[in-house]
Amino acid sequence: MPQTKFLLDESEIPTHWYNVVADMPNPPTPPLGPNGQPIGPEALTAIFPMALIEQEVSAERWIAIPEPVREAFRLYRPSPLFRAHRLEAALGTPAKIYYKNESVSPAGSHKVNTAIPQAYYNKLAGIKRLSTETGAGQWGSSIAMAGQMFGLEVRIFMVKVSYDQKPFRRSMMQTWGGQVFASPSMETQTGRNILAKDPNNQGSLGIAISEAVEEAASRADTNYSLGSVLNHVLLHQTIIGLEAKKQFEKAGDYPDMVFAPCGGGSNFGGVAFPFFADKAAGKNVRLVAVEPTSCPTLTKGTYAYDFGDTAGFTPLMKMYTLGHDFMPPGIHAGGLRYHGDSPLVSQLYHEGLIEAVAVPQLATFEAGVMFARAEGIIPAPESNHAIRACIDEALRCKESGEKKTLFFNLSGHGHFDMASYDRYFAGQLEDFSYPEEAIRASLANLPKVG
Ligand SMILES: *Cc1c(COP(=O)(O)O)cnc(C)c1O
Repeated sequence: MPQTKFLLDESEIPTHWYNVVADMPNPPTPPLGPNGQPIGPEALTAIFPMALIEQEVSAERWIAIPEPVREAFRLYRPSPLFRAHRLEAALGTPAKIYYKNESVSPAGSHKVNTAIPQAYYNKLAGIKRLSTETGAGQWGSSIAMAGQMFGLEVRIFMVKVSYDQKPFRRSMMQTWGGQVFASPSMETQTGRNILAKDPNNQGSLGIAISEAVEEAASRADTNYSLGSVLNHVLLHQTIIGLEAKKQFEKAGDYPDMVFAPCGGGSNFGGVAFPFFADKAAGKNVRLVAVEPTSCPTLTKGTYAYDFGDTAGFTPLMKMYTLGHDFMPPGIHAGGLRYHGDSPLVSQLYHEGLIEAVAVPQLATFEAGVMFARAEGIIPAPESNHAIRACIDEALRCKESGEKKTLFFNLSGHGHFDMASYDRYFAGQLEDFSYPEEAIRASLANLPKVG
């Protein structure tokens, strides 16, 4: 019988994270402060523990995973690598399709992989509380769970419209002990100012970030925590690709192409960077970030210094961006609606070392439903983007007769996103065309640097 699952023992959970900076042809571009000069690590100490700041700027190839973090990982890691025999048969493709199933984490996505170490390092630094923002709720639920594991209070500013629309994500965070506030809230000056002017404000990720950062910066016992984009977050996620490489060895195979959905870049970097190490050493492997056509950061954005948030509170980061005040259409893959992208992913893309494609919303749901009917797992709308791109390649292989080995990251399951599947089945989902005008207007507001 051909093998379907490739499993690792708990003892094979990686002991080190892989830092892609060690293999990049050029050093990463530094973040800049308000004066346009590179910021030093000390600029971040008000909101991050030193251990994470050190990881943020490290050029070491391997960074040890602390034992208490590996111990917590044993609750759901190593995650399985699957060979999608049934999807291959449904497509009639000669290509081999594999996927890494990150939906097995308690919160249902890869975000737990960074939530656990972030909670651990903050606890070690004597921090009592974490503040953060969440949009759709994937990150908020991951950090609520991780905070509970290490005895930290977690305060989550959840974009008001999602707070009202996704009550079960809120219940998850509360079950794990997280305190959830509809943002804008009365908890912060930022929130109070906005509500004074507009009591019915529906909130945005930019506002929620501002509230969380305000709280962390103004209290010594509180730090801020971010679920994507930053170098240390991508570092933590490399556990996905490192495990996958061991699993491909067991399968006696190796991918020709690796696909992952790309919002802030954390699960893409996590699965792709360990394969980039092989690519840097001369191996032929293509790494493909998949984004929505409605928020086409890599494929249609500009490589420039920009703010990480709408209000312009964060340092400037050099990244592909659609402009910090770009408002993407309300697609159902909430995790892919970020205006920017990880600076590491952006730099590698700029240097032609990784690839990106954009896919439209309806085609992603079509792919997700096809996957669920063949493989059983109902994917998150974000994950459907990688599945779409992988299926498209498998169909090209069907035409050409090529037997490529394709691999994608199933970043999460869709159990809390069934309302979007309902809308898809009811024919109420639409494709948003590329918002060229909105992007052009927003790019005109990029901050002037140097
Ligand atoms: C948040 C999220 C994403 C997008 O974020 P990245 O940082 O780009 O990985 C993708 N899939 C799922 C399931 C998510 O929760």
